[in-house]
Amino acid sequence: MLRVLPALALGLAAMTPLAAAEGEDEPVRFGLRIEVAREGESPVVSPAWLEAQVREANRLFAPAGVAFDQLEEAALPEAHRVMTTRRDRHRLAPRVGDDLVHVFVVASLANVDEPGFIQGVHWRSRLTGTYRHYVILSRIAGGSVLGHELGHFFGNPHSDVPGNIMSYARGNGPPAFDRAQLRRIRRFRDRFVRSGELVPR
Ligand SMILES: [Zn+2]
Repeated sequence: MLRVLPALALGLAAMTPLAAAEGEDEPVRFGLRIEVAREGESPVVSPAWLEAQVREANRLFAPAGVAFDQLEEAALPEAHRVMTTRRDRHRLAPRVGDDLVHVFVVASLANVDEPGFIQGVHWRSRLTGTYRHYVILSRIAGGSVLGHELGHFFGNPHSDVPGNIMSYARGNGPPAFDRAQLRRIRRFRDRFVRSGELVPR
C-alpha cells in the first residue's frame, strides 16, 4: 500500500532508470479494466486523472517490456464507493474476471492497520473461492500510485531506497524500478501469460 505522507522525503541516492527494454522490441500489452466510484452522477476522478496514472505506470514499466492499455472506464456501484474495512476490499473480488488487470477507484480508502487513510493498495482475496488480486486507488492518490500498486501486482515488495517506486520516500528524480525489480516484473509477466491469468492484447 502507499500511505499518505505529510511531506515528500528527500532522497540522497541518485536513481539510474533504465532507458529501454533489454533485448526486446515490443512490450507485452495488458488491458486495464478501471471501475470508478460515483459521487452522484460524477466519477470521483476525471478521465484526465486516469490517463495520467496510466501514462506514469507505462513510463515505469517500459524498461520491463510491459505496457498497459486502459480499456473502458465503468461505474463502480455505490456499495463500493467508500472502503472502510478489509471486508469492503474483499467484496470487490467477484467483480474481477480473467484476462485483465482490474483497478477500482474509490472515494475513500481507510487504512485497515491503523487510523487514517491510504492512497492505494494491491489487494489479494479468496472470497470467491478463486485467488484474485487487484488494485484499489483512492481519489487522493498521487500520480505514481497506480505504478506502485502495479509493482506489487507484478511481485515486488516495498523498497527502502529513496526514489525507488516501491519506496515511500521520493528521490530527486522521477521514481523508477531498479534492475532486480524489472527482472522480477518480466518473470511475473511471463508467468501471468503462461497461466492465462492475463491475456496479452
Ligand atoms: Zn505499497
